Amino acid sequence: MLITCPYCGPRDVSEYTYQGDGNRTRPDPASTDQEVWNAYVYDRLNPAGEHHEIWQHSGGCRAHLAVTRNTLTHVVSSVSFARDAGHKKSDSRRKTGAKA
Ligand SMILES: [Zn+2]
Repeated sequence: MLITCPYCGPRDVSEYTYQGDGNRTRPDPASTDQEVWNAYVYDRLNPAGEHHEIWQHSGGCRAHLAVTRNTLTHVVSSVSFARDAGHKKSDSRRKTGAKA
C-alpha cells in the first residue's frame, strides 16, 4: 500500500504509523459524563469501505496526515495534512450521552 505524503510523495506504508480513527471528536474536557467518555475511549467503527484515518509519516517528514482509505481494497482516495483536514462529519456511530 502506498500513501502519498504531501511533502515527500508516494511512500510505502512501512514508513507510516497508524495514529487512529480520524472520525472521533474529543468530548468537552469539563464533561464528567462517563457514558460519553467511555464511548470516546472504547467505541470504534469497523467499516467495510471508506474510512477516515490519521497516519504519521514517522519514517519521513513526521507529518500527521488525514487519510481516506478503503478498508476492503486499501485504495487511498485522499491525503491531506491532519491540521488542515478538520473534523469529518461522516461519523455514523451511535450517539451516546443523550439523556432522556
Ligand atoms: Zn512525509
